[in-house]
Order: sequence, then C-alpha cells, then structure tokens
Amino acid sequence: MAFSPLIRQMVDALRGLPGVGPKTAQRMALHLLERDRPAAAHLAQALQAAIDGVGYCTRCRTLSETEICSLCSDPRRDDSLLCVLQSPADVWAVEQAGGYQGRYFVLKGHLSPLDGMGPEEIGVPALLDCLEGRAVTEVILATNPTVEGEATAHYIAGLLRPRGIKVSRIAHGVPLGGELEYIDGGTLAHALAGRTQIL
Ligand SMILES: [Zn+2]
Repeated sequence: MAFSPLIRQMVDALRGLPGVGPKTAQRMALHLLERDRPAAAHLAQALQAAIDGVGYCTRCRTLSETEICSLCSDPRRDDSLLCVLQSPADVWAVEQAGGYQGRYFVLKGHLSPLDGMGPEEIGVPALLDCLEGRAVTEVILATNPTVEGEATAHYIAGLLRPRGIKVSRIAHGVPLGGELEYIDGGTLAHALAGRTQIL
C-alpha cells in the first residue's frame, strides 16, 4: 500500500536528514502522526523558528541568532588567537572539548575545485578581511585531517605566512588512552611525523 501524498511528503522530508534511511523516516513519521501529535507540532514550530531566527555571525560566520555571536562578543576571549574551522559543528566540538579561549573563523567546508568550491566559495577572502586591523598573532588551522582539509590548510597557510602571522596546524595522531597496536597505519605515521619534544 502506498502512503497518501502528505504522509509520503513527510517521510521524504525526514529522509533528507543525515543518517536517516527510508525505514527510520517511515517510523518517525508514523510515530509523530499516530502517537505524538503535540511533539510533531512542537517540532514543526521549532524548525520554523530556527529557520527564521538563525543566521550567521558577520564576524566568525558561525550560526548565530544575533549579528555578532556570543563567542565573538565575549570580552574575556583571547583576540590574539584565531582558530579556522570547516563548519559551525566544529566550533561546538572545540567549545565542548574546553581549553581553547581564542576566537574562531568558520569556512564553508574545504577547497574542492571539482565541486566548484574555490577559495572565494569557502570564504578565504572573508578570512583575510577579518584579520585586517585585528590583533591576531597566531592562526590555528583546524580543518579536518582529510586530503581536502590538509590541502585547504596548506593553501591558507601560504597566504598567511607572508603577513607575518604565526600559522599552526592542529596535531593529529594517537588518541588519549589509545593503544598503538590498534591504531591504523596512516594515523600512526602522522603521529610519528608530528612528534613533539617532551623536555
Ligand atoms: Zn562570531
């Protein structure tokens, strides 16, 4: 039996979410319609409110309900450090990890010429603009340790070095509490190449 048009539309919309397959989308839609209509109405309202009210911080380009986000407007943060990331989700990851007190700048993903994502598209000129007249002495390139993330970091580093700004890359390697024999070869090779002196 085929779903009626409105249910089909709901299932298709839920399938657009990351990690949600056809079966899960169907289960979610039927659960909301059959057992929890108040939750469905709340979900619809929350989605609409977020779509209407959440934009981007004009300074760091993370998701924000205000023109300048709370991280950019916090006077206690260190203006000399700027961490460059690939997405707003990465900002939350770093914030939740704790320990970083500098500022952020969020790129729109990574360089991917085949997909039409060049420096302009991912926001590199905006990053250079945001450094103008600011007291940033170190830029931490925290793009993902993927081929594209590394290429993006190298490209940006090449633009920043002539400006006399210290450019660093996040370390990657052995996870805390991990055991060497279970770590994949690529990660272990990176960890050895990026070793640091302990004294
Ligand atoms: Zn901001």
